[in-house]
Amino acid sequence: MPQREYDGSEVFDNLSPRTIATLQTYPGMVQRNIRAVDAEHVELQYYQQLRAGRRCSCWGSNVNACGHCEVCYGVGIVGGFLKYGCAQWILDVTAPNLTLNNIDILMTKNEGPHVFGLADGATSGEIIIPGDLQGNWGKPGSCPQEEGPTDIIDSHFWEDEDGQISFWIRSPQYTAWRPLNKAHLNTLLQYPQRFDVRITMQRPGVEAKSPLLQHLMLRVFRTNVAATKLKANRPRGTHAQSLAELGVLDEWTSERWWFESRIPNLTDLDWFLDINRNIRWKAVDTDKMAPQDVTLSWDVTVRKVQDFEQRILKYPA
Ligand SMILES: [Zn+2]
Repeated sequence: MPQREYDGSEVFDNLSPRTIATLQTYPGMVQRNIRAVDAEHVELQYYQQLRAGRRCSCWGSNVNACGHCEVCYGVGIVGGFLKYGCAQWILDVTAPNLTLNNIDILMTKNEGPHVFGLADGATSGEIIIPGDLQGNWGKPGSCPQEEGPTDIIDSHFWEDEDGQISFWIRSPQYTAWRPLNKAHLNTLLQYPQRFDVRITMQRPGVEAKSPLLQHLMLRVFRTNVAATKLKANRPRGTHAQSLAELGVLDEWTSERWWFESRIPNLTDLDWFLDINRNIRWKAVDTDKMAPQDVTLSWDVTVRKVQDFEQRILKYPA
């Protein structure tokens, strides 16, 4: 009898259809879906809206978080979003374990987040805080020396009238402070992956305006960079085809993307960056194909992020 290949659709006498599906059919479909999206896809970065964490200082007595806040991006939770495959550490006025020397926490206008500034009568001051980014890609032997685990160092501050802010970092084991930059952070993110951050503020005299600091964010890869990018198949609907003739396809349409099963939870609060075209897309509807709770694939309807959605457009991708 010729050898035959089973594709999982056969029903054997001694197994229930349910068992066959679990053991053969679904794993087979998952693998086929992965191969299919590999063949034809766009590369994306995925940003998931945070649902837990520190409540942002812009959300004090207000009913809502501030829509143009650059600490929580209108989400109300410090950080706002998390890039897929990354970990982030954020210093703002709500951060725990702050040591403030001659630094006050100041309210800002327009219901924005509170900021750090020099205390009245002080010409210099400092913020010291321990940081922790366990489980990042920087463990010895994990990532190539020249790449390093650091994705971005993002901060928002104001310097006026010769005031000055400086950022420093050190390992808890060593006393020497070094300037906070990618190279120094990469070194510190090896075992034990803890660090201290120090921010110094200065002004020429007590009458001069104080420099102000809103936030500092360190974002690192938890895994190799390629694994932080998602692949989606991007079929064009008939609606898109007709508009393509006008050359305005991207401006007009919503699109329906198809993902294989490896992505985690996806909701309509999340958004994507189309890496090659540098376009941000907002999920408006997500649909999971998951018979018997086995995720096979996702259908996600997306539309372009619009100009009024500054909270998404301002987020550092
Ligand atoms: Zn906020």
